[in-house]
Amino acid sequence: MKASVFYDIGDFRYEELPVPTINDDEVLIKMRACGLCGTDVHKAVAKTVKTPVVLGHEVSGDVVEVGKNVKDFKTGDRIFVAHHVPCFTCHYCLHGHHTLCHQFKTTNIDPGGFSEYIRIPALNVRHSMHKIPDDMTYEEAAMAEPVACCLHGQKYARIMPEDTVLIMGAGQIGIIHGQLAKARGAGKVYISDISDFRLQKARELGMDLAFNVNKEDLAEKVKEITGGLGVDVVIIAAGISSLLPQAVKIVRRGGTIIVFSPFDRNSLVSIDSSRFFEDEISIVGAYSSTPFEYIEALKMIHDKKINAGAMITHTFELKDLGKAIELASNPDEKYLKVMIEP
Ligand SMILES: [Zn+2]
Ligand SMILES: [Zn+2]
Repeated sequence: MKASVFYDIGDFRYEELPVPTINDDEVLIKMRACGLCGTDVHKAVAKTVKTPVVLGHEVSGDVVEVGKNVKDFKTGDRIFVAHHVPCFTCHYCLHGHHTLCHQFKTTNIDPGGFSEYIRIPALNVRHSMHKIPDDMTYEEAAMAEPVACCLHGQKYARIMPEDTVLIMGAGQIGIIHGQLAKARGAGKVYISDISDFRLQKARELGMDLAFNVNKEDLAEKVKEITGGLGVDVVIIAAGISSLLPQAVKIVRRGGTIIVFSPFDRNSLVSIDSSRFFEDEISIVGAYSSTPFEYIEALKMIHDKKINAGAMITHTFELKDLGKAIELASNPDEKYLKVMIEP
């Protein structure tokens, strides 16, 4: 079988690998679509992972072989699968922080999403694999992973009916967050970015106001549209740590900021800490998704509460993964969601 293997920055190789063999509790799938995640792009351009490695974790496909103990799936099933599974019993899991579980990041599909065939280990078969409806495309199904991550993040946001929500960053994650906030009853959803292309996409996908922070002053704009109150919820969906002090400035008294992005560069920032006691603001982080969110994510996509199909701007063949990464790592490119297909 073929897989696109990441060796080094700018060095992806479309290679022949052995088809994985499965045991009695596992499943072999043929990949039909694998979304390109911002984290894949980050790993590939900053080389933050050991290589050679097969990246990719937003996967849908067809079941082609099942172990004899597998009862819930059969050959021919169309499925979605996610890569990480928590243990459900450790200190973190018992406190509801499943994505911080020690087991979580040690689990994975084999060899990775950007591969023609993928072995699904028993834990994933049991907890993170789901059949998809006949009328759902493989591309839509692959979007269930990032949608689940956003659902996970918004659990901490406690969005109330008629709340105003500002999303900082109109990339794929920001636009999913925006659609999700709308679906969960937010009154107005605003989004900011520096790309007119992404802002236009955000408008098409239902954001009430999308504005370019290179052309308009964020704090002034928020003051104007909220009558001086500030926004109820801010979701930071761009990996720029200087957005946090800005968010602290524009969130309303008692409001919540969700940090949904790795601030791994320049992570030390200074914020107006008087706002915690005086104004009861909250800042909460959210990472990845858990088995509790996949069914809901698939349902929201199926019910068209999240228009996943309209977000896909590019599709690349598996052999051209390197080109896809090149496109997605160029901030001037006009793209939103990239799908990889065999
Ligand atoms: Zn992802
Ligand atoms: Zn655990």
